[in-house]
Amino acid sequence: MAISCAHCHKPLSLSKVTGSRGKGFSSQIQCYHCKAWLGRHAKLTMLKVIGFYTAVIAAVVGYFIEGTSNIVTPTILLSLILMGVSHMMDHLLVMELPVDEES
Ligand SMILES: [Zn+2]
Repeated sequence: MAISCAHCHKPLSLSKVTGSRGKGFSSQIQCYHCKAWLGRHAKLTMLKVIGFYTAVIAAVVGYFIEGTSNIVTPTILLSLILMGVSHMMDHLLVMELPVDEES
């Protein structure tokens, strides 16, 4: 996966990232070029996960319960759209600007 720093726009390789903090949706990584902290938009990541699980649950419900396809099909479609849109908008954000070396 090719990502670039949201601050200095240099390419980042996740395997070379040494600084990281936080866990789960609010985890952040540190750019090894400019030392800025980068993170993902927690709400968008949440939306993506919600969209994914809604689609899965709707598919399971539609599979096991007959006569629900008129509700299940649009639910799956909407969830997939939600997931797609939040995925496209999901990119690294600058969480904390690099701090100059303390004197
Ligand atoms: Zn950077």
